[in-house]
Amino acid sequence: MKAVWTKSQKNVELRSKWTTLKFEVDTRYCELNNRKIYMGRPLALYKQRPYISQKDYLLTIRPILAPQTLKKKNILRRIVLDAGHGGRDFGAQNIGRKLREKDLALDVALRLQQKLQADGFQVFLTRKSDTYIPLDQRAEFANRMNADLFISIHFNSVDKPSVLGLETYLLPQPWTPSSSRLNLQEMDKQSYPGNSNDGWNSLVGFFVHKTLVEKMVVVDRGLKRSRFKVLKTLKCPGMLVELGFISHPETALRLETIRYRDQLASALAQGIQLYRKTQKRLGGRV
Ligand SMILES: [Zn+2]
Repeated sequence: MKAVWTKSQKNVELRSKWTTLKFEVDTRYCELNNRKIYMGRPLALYKQRPYISQKDYLLTIRPILAPQTLKKKNILRRIVLDAGHGGRDFGAQNIGRKLREKDLALDVALRLQQKLQADGFQVFLTRKSDTYIPLDQRAEFANRMNADLFISIHFNSVDKPSVLGLETYLLPQPWTPSSSRLNLQEMDKQSYPGNSNDGWNSLVGFFVHKTLVEKMVVVDRGLKRSRFKVLKTLKCPGMLVELGFISHPETALRLETIRYRDQLASALAQGIQLYRKTQKRLGGRV
């Protein structure tokens, strides 16, 4: 790719025929064809030359740009969907509109299951009803079911009602902090079973996140990293999607409609199909 400085030594772009990768000095996220991806460390300038960490290149950027460099995997067949929260754990709530995260997550998970099954996937749910399931049992279920992919479905809420958009979380690589902070904590220094799929996590996470943001036409809050319990012990690639802020009035109105929840499920299904298509193109094991 060709490197070009824009905005006087502050932004650097790598360009090829199909791809534009934008970095900013001292900034931890980059943009790949306008989709926001968080890296473990910011772009650094050393003797006027820009650097990103080797881990960010090998485990985040390269798997997306050159998935043929990943060690081959079975072609995606078995998917575990995890509707967040449930039972006594309501998750986020919009009291005024009577919306509860646990209900929305289950509704989207059930819709997505139908769509994926119609497309020939085997799909299993960590919960099929309004029941409480401890966090550690969710990844365990995926491992027991021999899943090829795990997706945990959630919705956001914050005090500021103007905040909106969609974000997708992957397990951070060892020795890198979560996207929400810059300092390294003790838990960040460990490698978890989920880290055995770092490269694949980046690839499938990118496809699903990109498809969601583009199909739903929403604010891209980025492909982020956080050590969520449901991702740590996974033996297969996995992600946690935050499908919108129920604290945002307009988003809440949309989420009340079957149509919008069905569109969310369709966008997720299309992202998953895109991933499988890429795997097939690469000649994954059947
Ligand atoms: Zn949640």
